[in-house]
Amino acid sequence: MRHEKPSISSPSMLPVESPVKPFIIPVFIPHAGCPHQCVFCNQKAITRSEAQAPSTVQIEATIRSYLKYLTPSRKPVQIAFFGGNFLGIGRREILRLLDAATTFVREGIVDGIRFSTRPDTLTKDRLEILHGFPVSTIEIGAQSMNDAVLAMSQRGHTAQHTACAVHLAKDRGYEVGIQMMVGLPGDDDAGAISTGRQIAALCPDFVRIYPAVVLEHSLLADWYSKGQYTPLSLSAGVSLVKRLYLMFQERSIPVIRMGLQATVDLENGSILLAGPFHPAFGHMVIAEIYRDRAIELLESSGRAWDAVTLCVHPKRISTMRGLKNENIHYLKNRFDIRHIEVIGDPLMSDHHLSLVVDS
Ligand code: SF4
Repeated sequence: MRHEKPSISSPSMLPVESPVKPFIIPVFIPHAGCPHQCVFCNQKAITRSEAQAPSTVQIEATIRSYLKYLTPSRKPVQIAFFGGNFLGIGRREILRLLDAATTFVREGIVDGIRFSTRPDTLTKDRLEILHGFPVSTIEIGAQSMNDAVLAMSQRGHTAQHTACAVHLAKDRGYEVGIQMMVGLPGDDDAGAISTGRQIAALCPDFVRIYPAVVLEHSLLADWYSKGQYTPLSLSAGVSLVKRLYLMFQERSIPVIRMGLQATVDLENGSILLAGPFHPAFGHMVIAEIYRDRAIELLESSGRAWDAVTLCVHPKRISTMRGLKNENIHYLKNRFDIRHIEVIGDPLMSDHHLSLVVDS
């Protein structure tokens, strides 16, 4: 719908969707290479797997099953070893995993390989193992840049390890992503924002932000049952991750994931005891940014409204409305508005919002 009435546009830019969407084929290696279990972690529960790393036959089957869903618009295609500490695995096992994935790269079906690893195992010696393999991206699990928080989470590394690992991987020409967490024991909002700033200063190519949740058979679950740990609420988690998202956006660092990947067990609650999990967590963060921009617009209009029309690009209508129309309910209550309509204008850029006004 194209509106002809005058409008007031939001002065602040809204999140921009990346036109490039990589196709990532996850191969889970639950806890493989981990020196111990960090307090918040239970990869076996998340991935529903007991095995440390799948067999070569299983890896090939996983990759082929994912490739069925590959569409031409998704580029690059990468095989990703997630759920463990890749560079902490024994050398022969790393070579086996890389060989299995490289077969698909040589066939021209896949573009490259990525993996996640702890910062303290990303060393010159370990990087040598990758020589000659088509590894393009390394994701470093920093989680926090506060050493006290890292110690409380029993990570076994410091913020300095993360800084060194990022520099080392970047010097070797790898694309580098950093994973951080919010809601860790001993952390708070100010601490998480400080971690975000320190991570941004390392200039990663992208970040992922995960809220800590209480998973069964984790040490955090014990602490939670004894009242020694309280997770973030969902709304507090969304608001905090929103602040981090905006901070990274301001520095042009893409946030490629917010919130845990939904699995059947997480969604049905069988392994999740508490914490800010929602399958649409990332959507909720972006929707809250849209809500904030709408608040700015309504406040800057300097008048009360009986009914208003908000205009966005058509693909952003559901974001503006929020999950279950939460944004609409919120704005109606806050500004005492009887009716709010959200319309789509294909001529609008996807990072603008305007308030259509009666002349
Ligand atoms: S958080 Fe990473 S290093 Fe710690 S136990 Fe889980 S997979 Fe291993």
